[in-house]
Parts: sequence; C-alpha cells; structure tokens
Amino acid sequence: QLILDSYSIQMLSVQPDTKPKGCAGCNRKIKDRYLLKALDKYWHEDCLKCACCDCRLGEVGSTLYTKANLILCRRDYLRLFGVTGNCAACSKLIPAFEMVMRAKDNVYHLDCFACQLCNQRFCVGDKFFLKNNMILCQTDYEEGLMKEGYAPQVR
Ligand SMILES: [Zn+2]
Ligand SMILES: [Zn+2]
Ligand SMILES: [Zn+2]
Ligand SMILES: [Zn+2]
Repeated sequence: QLILDSYSIQMLSVQPDTKPKGCAGCNRKIKDRYLLKALDKYWHEDCLKCACCDCRLGEVGSTLYTKANLILCRRDYLRLFGVTGNCAACSKLIPAFEMVMRAKDNVYHLDCFACQLCNQRFCVGDKFFLKNNMILCQTDYEEGLMKEGYAPQVR
C-alpha cells in the first residue's frame, strides 16, 4: 500500500504588525500580503515549487509531497516514488508510472502479461483466464480443464 509523504500547505495572511518571516526557499524576508506555511517553514508563494516541474505548489491543491529532500507535486511524487504493487507474474515492484495490466486483484508488467504456459501475449479484447493465480490463454485453460476431467458441461 502506498504511503504518501504528504504535508498540507497553509496560506496565511501576513499581519502588518508582525516582523517579516524568512522564506525557506530563497532566504529573503517575506514582505508579501500572503505567505505559505509548509513543513513548519514559511515560503513566498513563488518559492514553494515542485523540484521537478516547477509548478507552484500553493496552487496545485494544497498538499506537497516530500522525499529524499525533494519537494514535489503529487504527480511527480507518484511518478518518481509511487509503486503500483508487485507484478503477480515476476513479483518485482511495478513503479506507478508504468503501464500495467490488471486481472482481478493482480497487476502485471505489460511484458509479464502472457500465458504462463505457452507465453502467448494477449491483445486488447483477447480472452484470458486466471487459474490458481496463473494467467492462461483459452487453449491452455481448456486443456487444463480437460486433463482435470471437469471439462465444461455442454448444455
Ligand atoms: Zn522566497
Ligand atoms: Zn511537479
Ligand atoms: Zn513482471
Ligand atoms: Zn497458453
């Protein structure tokens, strides 16, 4: 399960009688009417930016994500650090930015989504079957049923 290192951003209006706070981004004093408070620090609205795409985080909703000393927007955080889960075929992690195939509760790398007996790949619209958590093509699935002696009843 994905645990997000997320923090909320508050926008505060600066009271004219208080002494200006230093910005954690540029280290200058904040003399604007508004400032952002995040990670227990104060920021100019322009200084709290995503390290990847440079978007102003005070505007993109009001949550920031941080990891490895990077401050990131949700999209970049998920792209860099998010994981979708483990591939049910090779059991390696699937990063969130990768395309995945899903079957029931399982996720698969695109490359891993093939019949686990004959390696046939599936195209959109192809039939596949899940048996004992294995992906099977129709041929192998039906063959397996036949071997086990409970072929589908023809009505
Ligand atoms: Zn600043
Ligand atoms: Zn970003
Ligand atoms: Zn895989
Ligand atoms: Zn097959």
